[in-house]
Amino acid sequence: MAADRRTVIENCAIATVDVADTEYATGHLVLAGDRIESLGPGPAPEGLENVTRRIDATGHLATPGLVNTHHHFYQWLTRGLATDHNLFDWLVALYPTWARIDEAMVHAAAQGSLAMMARGGVTTAMDHHYVFPRGSGDLSEAIITAARDMGVRFTLARGSMDRGESDGGLPPDFAVETLDDALAATEETVRRHHDTSPGAMTQIAVAPCSPFSVSTELMRQGAELARRLGVRLHTHGSETVEEEKFCHELFGMGPTDYFASTGWLGEDVWMAHCVHMNDSDIAAFARTGTGVAHCPSSNARLAAGIARVPDMLAAGVPVGLGVDGTASNESGELHTELRNALLINRLGAHREKALTARQALRLGTHGGARVLGRADEIGSLEPGKLADLVLWRMDTLAHASIADPVTALVFGAAAPVTASFVNGRQIVENGRLLTADEDAVARTTRAEARRLARIAGQV
Ligand SMILES: [Zn+2]
Repeated sequence: MAADRRTVIENCAIATVDVADTEYATGHLVLAGDRIESLGPGPAPEGLENVTRRIDATGHLATPGLVNTHHHFYQWLTRGLATDHNLFDWLVALYPTWARIDEAMVHAAAQGSLAMMARGGVTTAMDHHYVFPRGSGDLSEAIITAARDMGVRFTLARGSMDRGESDGGLPPDFAVETLDDALAATEETVRRHHDTSPGAMTQIAVAPCSPFSVSTELMRQGAELARRLGVRLHTHGSETVEEEKFCHELFGMGPTDYFASTGWLGEDVWMAHCVHMNDSDIAAFARTGTGVAHCPSSNARLAAGIARVPDMLAAGVPVGLGVDGTASNESGELHTELRNALLINRLGAHREKALTARQALRLGTHGGARVLGRADEIGSLEPGKLADLVLWRMDTLAHASIADPVTALVFGAAAPVTASFVNGRQIVENGRLLTADEDAVARTTRAEARRLARIAGQV
């Protein structure tokens, strides 16, 4: 077999986000095939064979690629609506429109969501998709195809809802599936698409939507299904005070106790939000290794509250960052969440050391890899790991006067991405996608958003 082709990157600052937080003021990386072969201070070793590309990354910071742990791609078509609503009002306002999505719309929305994240340094994306209107086509396939074509590593959390209004749930009855249909379709999606091989680009998780849109039976059987198939579990949890009240009224307990009672705490589980957690909830997450997708912008947008991330980290809870759907975070970018996580958690804790720039970067990289169950392959720059990394440009007006590049990246304006690699393949160059025509994606998403609005009777 021919030796792997090597790419040498030199003269950049490097934040490895390894366990010791190793950094180099000026260093090099050698990529071989889909892996990081070596890295360290100063120039690359001389005499390397099979070097097909050398990148002079002077003025740049290299970090692991960003890992997004919570999103709803389809919401790309309903951005900027219900802008002054809390979670439940916002959901009720948007469910009727969401229930009209079809395959072409979902594909376009996935392209828009993925493109926006990828050009901003995301190398691993996820989509929690839980709206499957009858007769709307193969939505999972449409989403997975979009991710594959974009060249982004991807987890599809196959969602579901089976608790409609007539069963005391929040979504209208026409927007939900039956218990049996949801379980069968989820199992089929796992069997068809979940890749367990090293460096996998597509993985599937089992992901009933939330306590207020899913029956207890679907929560229970969903957890059993995931464990039988060996895949991870994802859902929304403890997002708002209204959800907490709902759980107490319907189940006679708070969300975390409800999750415990349905088999939903464990190392193979991660949950979005986890805003309203008391000390014993956080202890239960820490004890069981249950992960959290922290979504600061979405929580602020919907006035949900501030998750206790510093307390979670102190207790040992795995925490990653999430954009959340773009109907509750119109920017759709993960790199801004690094900054928002830092600022919001300092506000929430009234403490200037509540979260540091380096902790924020860790949440967006290694923390995300942990909650997706992939920390052995991605999330830090180390020899043998997959070559998922970003070169951030730090020598322009926006950042050049800030001496420390990690401080510049997290505290400063969104940094331009000069290059982004997934499995050693470059997918972004100078802020533009190499794997898709951004202008064409913008046009398609606009057309599909208009078509959805028309069908849903908004215009
Ligand atoms: Zn969400």
